[in-house]
Amino acid sequence: MALTGLEIYKQLPKKNCGECGVPTCLAFAMALAAGKAALDTCPYVTDAARENLESASAPPIKAIKFGNGSVMGDETVMYRHDKTFYHETTIIVQVSDALTDDQVSAKLAEINGLEFDRVGLHYSVEGVAVVNESGDAARFAKVAAAVAAGTEKSLLLISNNPEALKAAVAPLAARKPLIGEANADNYEAVVNIGKENSVPVILKADGLDALNDLVEKAVALGYKEFVLDPGTKGTAQQLADLTQLRRLSIKKKFRTFGYPVIVFTNHENPLDEIMEASVYVCKYASAIVLKTSAKAHLLPLMALKQNLYTDPQKPIQVEEKLYAIGEVTEDSPLYITTNFSLTYYSVEGEVESTKIPSYIIPVNTEGTSVLTAYAAGKYEPELIWETMQKLGVPDILKHKNVIIPGYVAVVTAKLKEISGWNVIVGPRESSGIVAFAKTLK
Ligand code: SF4
Repeated sequence: MALTGLEIYKQLPKKNCGECGVPTCLAFAMALAAGKAALDTCPYVTDAARENLESASAPPIKAIKFGNGSVMGDETVMYRHDKTFYHETTIIVQVSDALTDDQVSAKLAEINGLEFDRVGLHYSVEGVAVVNESGDAARFAKVAAAVAAGTEKSLLLISNNPEALKAAVAPLAARKPLIGEANADNYEAVVNIGKENSVPVILKADGLDALNDLVEKAVALGYKEFVLDPGTKGTAQQLADLTQLRRLSIKKKFRTFGYPVIVFTNHENPLDEIMEASVYVCKYASAIVLKTSAKAHLLPLMALKQNLYTDPQKPIQVEEKLYAIGEVTEDSPLYITTNFSLTYYSVEGEVESTKIPSYIIPVNTEGTSVLTAYAAGKYEPELIWETMQKLGVPDILKHKNVIIPGYVAVVTAKLKEISGWNVIVGPRESSGIVAFAKTLK
């Protein structure tokens, strides 16, 4: 059971020195109780107090780091709107060691090419899982080494055979791969390989009861760097298990399940597989291992992930500047929008589709959309004109026409009055820009 702020306070040094980043020990205790501070930031905690407080200050889901900067877990809420989600679902694509060397190279090249740009952000698949389907330990080690040499991405090494794992992990320990899978039969050997190489280990059991037993036995071996795999099953049951795991760790502070969760997809058909993976991105996989590596399959999954993990409290914004779309001239039209990236990129895409070289200014509305910005007083005609002047627009364009979003037609008269420009009311939605552009002279 978690300790209260006052219970934690009793065990702190009470120096009120502020070195932990808050002015008093009491404030630090409250932050610890709320899971908003780490015990390590106080340098004066005694060993005895540290032992007592460790469980109180530990996050409900342990952060597990592996590979090339991949972090899983460390979540504190069930729903994003409760606070925020910290670590996006890690997307991993598997490579079987039963493939030929050429097939492994081709698959790896495809995985390395999974790079996406969307609404001004760049993202990619984070990891490659080498799976020992050949049953041959030497082949597994060879393919693992080849994959490691061919990618910078985080590595997973998956085999039920401890000897095969041992041979594959040792030369790659510096890459800090995530290894597995430890099950009821081999957990001692696999956990010890993890310990010896300081790499995290996947614990796999079918169903939550069996997983509970396995985690307790694995923790008793004196290691705590684990990722849980609740077994392969139908999507509905997997969703139920993932939800229970998240609930038990977050709501009940059930430490046995306080680890990130990894899921291997079940479906063979890539489209079914992506739908299945989409369920797990929503609830509550820390990592998903996929079979498909086709860009067209991965894109919707990555977009879903991006949407879910974009914190609405910190809207993505584009830089406020004069954007030139195409081969612009001093006669090109000028569109005004906001710097909320989703709005800006929607407008940019449509302006591009008009095939008319144009300028766009995303006015700094602190990352809010047109109507939200206007309602909050952040899209006033004075600000629009000030931004146009700041960006040197009157010196760049020969004409004096500015196109504003249809939703803020109400600012037309005032903007015209203070700027002396001809204000043209554009469409309300960006989807209307192409048709609108045909009406421009
Ligand atoms: Fe108190 Fe430690 Fe923070 Fe100093 S660093 S204020 S002793 S909790």
